[in-house]
Amino acid sequence: MWLVCSQRCGGNLFRALFAEVEVDASGEYQRHRVVQPGYLCLNCGSPAIDLAAVPEAMNEDEEDETAMTPLDVLCPICETMVSVFPGEECPNCGAALEVV
Ligand SMILES: [Zn+2]
Ligand SMILES: [Zn+2]
Repeated sequence: MWLVCSQRCGGNLFRALFAEVEVDASGEYQRHRVVQPGYLCLNCGSPAIDLAAVPEAMNEDEEDETAMTPLDVLCPICETMVSVFPGEECPNCGAALEVV
């Protein structure tokens, strides 16, 4: 999770609005449930955004695509055009390739 104030006021304290904590008769914590999403910046009172949630959702799609797509790169060591997946080595000479 990475919360930021929607006003970018620099505040780094936030209050969770969404959780209702349920307790039993003795006050023992049972569970919490989400009643409404959202956080408040305690510095200026503006809504805060969870930046971590957004890229996470987007990365899932991206990772699938890049993981399944080999890239054609020119190996700088053996000067061969090779098809590699990101993070793989040159299949020809074993050199580490920087595939972005
Ligand atoms: Zn703020
Ligand atoms: Zn090579």
